[in-house]
Amino acid sequence: MNTQDVLALMKEEEVEYVDIRFTDPKGKLQHVTMIADQVDEDFFEEGLMFDGSSVAGWKSIDQSDMKLMPDPASAYLDPFYAERTLCLHCNVAEPDTGEPYSRDPRSTAVKAEAYLRASGIGDVSYWGPEAEFFLFDDVRYAVTPQKVSYEIDAAAAAWNTDASFEMGNTGHRAPHKGAYFPVNPIDEGQDIRGEMLSTMKRMGIKVDKHHHEVATCQHELGMIFGGLVEQADNMQKYKYVIHNVAHAYGKSATFMPKPMKGDSGSGMHVNMSIWRDGKPLFAGDKYADLSQEALWFIGGILKHAKALNALTNPSTNSYKRLIPGFEAPVLRAYSARNRSGCVRIPWTESPKAKRVEARFPDPSANPYLCFAALLMAGIDGIRNKIDPGPASDKDLYDLPPEELESIPTVCGSLREALEELEKDMDFLLAGDVFTRDQLDAHIRLKWEEVYAYEHTPHPIEYQLYYSV
Ligand code: GLU
Ligand code: MG
Ligand code: MG
Repeated sequence: MNTQDVLALMKEEEVEYVDIRFTDPKGKLQHVTMIADQVDEDFFEEGLMFDGSSVAGWKSIDQSDMKLMPDPASAYLDPFYAERTLCLHCNVAEPDTGEPYSRDPRSTAVKAEAYLRASGIGDVSYWGPEAEFFLFDDVRYAVTPQKVSYEIDAAAAAWNTDASFEMGNTGHRAPHKGAYFPVNPIDEGQDIRGEMLSTMKRMGIKVDKHHHEVATCQHELGMIFGGLVEQADNMQKYKYVIHNVAHAYGKSATFMPKPMKGDSGSGMHVNMSIWRDGKPLFAGDKYADLSQEALWFIGGILKHAKALNALTNPSTNSYKRLIPGFEAPVLRAYSARNRSGCVRIPWTESPKAKRVEARFPDPSANPYLCFAALLMAGIDGIRNKIDPGPASDKDLYDLPPEELESIPTVCGSLREALEELEKDMDFLLAGDVFTRDQLDAHIRLKWEEVYAYEHTPHPIEYQLYYSV
C-alpha cells in the first residue's frame, strides 16, 4: 500500500483517527493518536515530531526532538478501538537531516534487508516467528506485582500435589508439561485463541493455526512467513492482539520467557530462509537437503550465538528458560531431528519450504533487532564460509558428560550475554546496519535490568538462607 492507497482507504472506511505507532528499544509498541483530517499527503512526507527523551534508551533531554515517519505499507485498521482508527507503524528519523535514527529498531530492520540485497547473497529473506505465551487470570486487585508472582508460584506448586484436591477437582486439568494438546475441557483456550486468530486475520495478517502448548496455560498462534520488516511488524500486532483479547476475557497474557518454575518456558523460534533470483538459496544436496550456503548460515548463527543472546534473549528471565529438559536449547549445535539444539532444520519435502529454525530466541526480544541480528550472523557465516561442523542428531539432553563438555553452550545469564556482545559485535556493525552507539545504548539499558535483578533478594533465598 502506498500513501494514496492509505488516504483512499481512510475515506472508504470513514476513519476518524490515525494511530501513529513505533517500537521502543525494549520492544514495546508505543502510540500517539491523530485526528484523521490532520493526516494528508504532507503528513506522510513531513512526519510527526515527538519527545525522544521520554523513551528509555533514546535521546537525552537536551537533544530530545525526533520525528516519526509513517510507513504506508504497514497500514491496518485497529480491531479494538470504539472509534474507527487506522494504524501506521513508523521509522524514527533525525529531525534536521531526515536520516534514520541510529537507535531506532525498525530502521535497523530496514537496513538489514537492504544489506542482504547489497551483499548479493540474496534478494529477499523470509521469516516465520513462533512466539509462545501464557494466559493467566487477571488479578485486578493485586497488592503488588510480587504478590501476583508468589500466587502464581503457589498455584503451580499445588498443581501436582494432593493439595490440589483442596483447590477442587483437577481431573480435567493438564499436569506440568502435559498440555500438548488434548481437546477441551482440558484445553480451556479454544474460544479465546480462536478470537485472537480471527482478529489477526481481519487485520490482514496471514495466519494458519492455533493450539495449546506444552505448559499449563501456554498457547501459540501460527502466522505464515513473510519479509523481515513485515514479520517484525506482524509480531508487534500479534502481541497487541493477544494482550487485548486476553484483557477483554478478564485474562492477562504474558510473553515473559519463563513465568512458571518446573514447566516449559515460552520460546520465539525463528524460521528463516533466503531467496535469490526467485530460487530458494537454502535447498541443496548437503545434510538434511540443505545447500552449502545454508550450512554456512548456520555456522554464523552458532558462532555468534552468545553475542546474539543479548538481542534474542534480552531479559534476565530469558536464562531461566534456556535449561535442559523443556525443549529449549542449551547447546550450540544443529540437527534435523532433535529439538534440544540451538538450530533445527524442520522436515519438508519441498525445496521452497527449506528453512533453518533458530530455537534459542524468546518473545522478550525486540523482533526488529532479533531478526536483523540473526540475519547479520547468517550473512557473516556465508561471507566467511563458517563451517558449522557435523550435525548432532542425538538427544543432546541425554549425552554423557564427557561428550557434553565438547559442545559449546548459549549464555547462562543476561550478564554473560552483554559481556559477549561487547566482545563480538563487528558482524552486527557491518554495513552500518547496527551502530556502535546503538549497541552501547542497548548494553547500558540492559545492565540496569541486570543490576535490578542481581540486587533484589529472591524469594528462594529466604527458603535457602533465612534461617542459616
Ligand atoms: N516451549 C519450547 C521452548 O521454550 C518450545 C516447544 C516447541 O517446540 O514448540 O522453546
Ligand atoms: Mg511452540
Ligand atoms: Mg518451532
